[in-house]
Amino acid sequence: MKQYSQMNKDELNALKNELDGAFVKYKEAGRSLNMTRGVPSDDQLALCNDMLTCLNANDYKAANGADCRNYGGLDGLPEVKKIFADLLELTADEVIVGGNSSLALMFDNVSVNVSHGVRDGKPWATQGKIKFLCPSPGYDRHFTICNYFHIDMIPIAMGEDGPDMDEIEKMVAADPLIKGIWCVPKYSNPTGIVYSDETIRRFAKLKPAASDFRIYWDNAYAIHDLGETKKILNIIRLCEEAGNPNMVYVFSSFSKVSFAGASMTCMASSKSNCEYIKQRLTAQTIGPDKLNHLRHARFFKDAASVIAHMEKHAQILRPKFKLVSDMLNSKLGGLGIGAWTEPKGGYFVSFDSLDGLAKRIVALCAGAGVALTPAGATYPNGQDPKDSNIRIAPTFPPLAELEAAMEIFCSAVKLASVEKYLA
Ligand code: PLP
Repeated sequence: MKQYSQMNKDELNALKNELDGAFVKYKEAGRSLNMTRGVPSDDQLALCNDMLTCLNANDYKAANGADCRNYGGLDGLPEVKKIFADLLELTADEVIVGGNSSLALMFDNVSVNVSHGVRDGKPWATQGKIKFLCPSPGYDRHFTICNYFHIDMIPIAMGEDGPDMDEIEKMVAADPLIKGIWCVPKYSNPTGIVYSDETIRRFAKLKPAASDFRIYWDNAYAIHDLGETKKILNIIRLCEEAGNPNMVYVFSSFSKVSFAGASMTCMASSKSNCEYIKQRLTAQTIGPDKLNHLRHARFFKDAASVIAHMEKHAQILRPKFKLVSDMLNSKLGGLGIGAWTEPKGGYFVSFDSLDGLAKRIVALCAGAGVALTPAGATYPNGQDPKDSNIRIAPTFPPLAELEAAMEIFCSAVKLASVEKYLA
């Protein structure tokens, strides 16, 4: 197939007529397909259904004797602290296990740093207009947290190995109002890239002008491999070695391991940071849902069985990611009208259209009954400077629906691109 840029007006018009006709048919079909958020599918959730019944009227005590029905315990049952610590290659006292949303842990952490400051620091709110670096495209809800706290966001370009480290090193060294950076180091949302060893080493060795600068290391997809297990370097250990022991907060989540709405999540950091956070937790909460922790402990037992469980998720997800990749390659390959990622894990495929077309493509899809994440959502303040990035979330729809949605998506990319060349 010819590249669109090589087509003459007649060829483009003929193609436009064909695609307009296809869109009339899509609309008539009255479909309602959803590829917005990266959520687990019903059959993935069913993998954990035994967790709903794995406790009983005689089983509510943790290994340390704690009665999980009662008050007590701030940082998680020892059983689940060990599971997270083993998965993240940390010690249990570097881990705090919380409730069902790691996003809530991140929000709280930013909130407290804004109002009270990091350990031995001044409240960020008293220091002027503070800023976060935001590798982009990135996770929209990280940006929403910044918006909520009126934190300025500075986009940082993403490459194959992670964000632009030259830029990050320069900026954090020069500006004491840069207080944080959002990172999704493994199977980044949405690009699916994995930070290289060199990138992670450079993060650990940052020399920020602000002593209260913090890395928000959201390792949401730590164990979400579609194929071979991929390991990334341990940022907490590297920060320790580099003399920056308190510079990083790690977050992780079982939302896409057990039940997305009823999982457990964790925050990990230096022992000193964890002690400081636990002091605050005494004012904030009576502790996490220990029965839910116990359910997870009973169901999973240990880190090795969590990894084995993730292979069951991968078996469900692999065909979906393959379908997306096959369709993009067969329908759009060689046309010069888009580029896309082929992630080895995580929950998303990232698509870049010709400049200025993402909003149009999303609108065309919406008109044909396919809901996509709004164009721009992957950039701070919803502003994609090139209006080109679209996040594809293939995990939730059954294969047949995914195929129908991708068919419409590929046609929308073609139609928007033809329109651009004809304009
Ligand atoms: N972090 C990233 C990078 C995500 O992609 C998601 C969900 O899509 C989350 C965090 C949300 O995690 P949780 O469900 O634990 O709040």
